[in-house]
Amino acid sequence: MRRWNGWGDDTVDFEVPQAASEYLAKLIGPAIPPNNISLEEMVTMVPASRLPDHRLISTDKEVRLRHCAGQSMSDWIYFRGGLVPTFPDGVAFPESDNDVREILRFAKEILAQVIPYGGGTSVVGHLTVPRGEQSVITVDMGRMNKLLRLDKQGCLATFQAGVRGPDLEAALRAEGFTLGHYPQSFELSTLGGWVVTRSAGHFSLGYGRIESLFVGGEMETPIGTVKIPAFPASAAGPDLREFIMGSEGRLGIVTKCTIKVTALPETEIFPAAFFAGRKEGVAAVRALAQARIPLSMIRLSLPEETAITLSLKHGWQMDLLYRWLAWHGIKEQKSMLLYGAEGTQKKVHWALRRAKEIIKEHHGVYVGTSVGKHWYKSRFKLPYIRNNLWDIGYAVDTLETAVPWDKAPETWKAIEEGLRNALKGVNEKVHVFTHLSHVYPHGTSLYVTYLFRLADSPSETMSRWQALKKAACEAIVRTGATITHQHGVGIDHQPYLAAEKGELGIEMISSLCCSLDPEGMMNPGKLIK
Ligand SMILES: Cc1cc2nc3c(=O)[nH]c(=O)nc-3n(C[C@H](O)[C@H](O)[C@H](O)COP(=O)(O)OP(=O)(O)OC[C@H]3O[C@@H](n4cnc5c(N)ncnc54)[C@H](O)[C@@H]3O)c2cc1C
Repeated sequence: MRRWNGWGDDTVDFEVPQAASEYLAKLIGPAIPPNNISLEEMVTMVPASRLPDHRLISTDKEVRLRHCAGQSMSDWIYFRGGLVPTFPDGVAFPESDNDVREILRFAKEILAQVIPYGGGTSVVGHLTVPRGEQSVITVDMGRMNKLLRLDKQGCLATFQAGVRGPDLEAALRAEGFTLGHYPQSFELSTLGGWVVTRSAGHFSLGYGRIESLFVGGEMETPIGTVKIPAFPASAAGPDLREFIMGSEGRLGIVTKCTIKVTALPETEIFPAAFFAGRKEGVAAVRALAQARIPLSMIRLSLPEETAITLSLKHGWQMDLLYRWLAWHGIKEQKSMLLYGAEGTQKKVHWALRRAKEIIKEHHGVYVGTSVGKHWYKSRFKLPYIRNNLWDIGYAVDTLETAVPWDKAPETWKAIEEGLRNALKGVNEKVHVFTHLSHVYPHGTSLYVTYLFRLADSPSETMSRWQALKKAACEAIVRTGATITHQHGVGIDHQPYLAAEKGELGIEMISSLCCSLDPEGMMNPGKLIK
């Protein structure tokens, strides 16, 4: 069953290896395991619903509790620490477009607010229920999960928007196709959620971000249905897909999406290489991105991330790897590159040969495919470590941005320094590390992970996290990077959006929301105020 207060399936665990917890204790201090509140205690905090009965809406307290938040750090602190969050008054489970229209009509009649809910994996407060007089209906799209049409000739598939990653891929794979979109939340996140948050999967280099995979669809709004046909291309004015992508539930509920699919690759290979330092690694990935080699992914862990990643692995193979790298002069400050190619044997071999040449030109040391195989196998398991780290007393959070190549070092230094210094006032250390993934010819995303100790009380843990988040967001804005490359805006990034969109830009978004949702009933407070 899905964990109610953490990540993923509650039968899956990712134990923190002894070596890794010792490493963390050395870096930021020994931690004290917290007292997590139980589900039963939390259910008692759910107030009575303010909704009249409706055939599609459950007002069960546990159901409402399980839909009141996503996976942001503040959601975790609420859930695990027992701080009282806000709850929807009911959760609707539509099965058809008609059901969605009926729920929106009902919400309009009773002046309720509506929060569309995909997989509940938002990490930036997209699903937070506003406090106030109006009742709130969360609309869980999980039952709208069917493949409606597969056009094999045109390589297009139309799904209902609530389909989760594994079900979508299984339906396509049964017909010899793939979408190739794998965010790390793949297990639980949905197609509709990906589209409205502008998601990026780890093979975005090869298959594209969701923006380039989403070719059309339908959205139910409070004033009617928006239909976008799947044209191969069109010069007919502004592209309406752009209005839906990144709309974060503010405009309506996406019910169907038509997406580009690709024939399953003949082969996929994920080699790794190491560089003596961050400068060498960054120069190499920039060269790889600019050479436009058909790779499906490039991911460069900077030295701190390389060190912590390697601390999770041990055994004779690791000893051999360290000796091999040291023999090539790669010692303390190593950067690890994982890259991959998929497609026909011929294309993959050509791409990997060319990539190897570029890596060599940048003094990288190729180490074969066993590190990459391990990453591939465990790529969706890693988020589970967040549960186990919390249980021993450490919080781990991530944030991401994107920036042109020439500004990348300034941006990651500013974010890392901001985070490292943010808790100095309370004498706490923060461990920060970064990787570059989703690289582009003209710039790169930066993905930053930070760990800090849980405090004695959940409210103090919340203040620590708020100080950290503020420091990182301010560093991002100050250095001219985007406030988000893939997680979206939600509540957490909203105060920083105007810095990149400008006053007029925010007004344009506001007037779009007003025109489709004049009563302001759709996911209020997210994206813009
Ligand atoms: C462990 C973990 C790893 C992650 N890794 C990645 C990653 O690699 N790449 C990435 O891009 N993101 C990642 N995320 C963030 C998150 O998974 C994405 O933002 C994802 O796209 C959200 O999809 P969802 O279906 O879970 O949407 P939800 O979290 O349920 O909702 C997100 C927003 O979309 C709206 N929404 C959802 N469905 C609809 C719909 N049908 N119509 C209208 N609005 C809708 C909601 O109202 C909300 O505003 C990760 C999150 C976690 C917890």
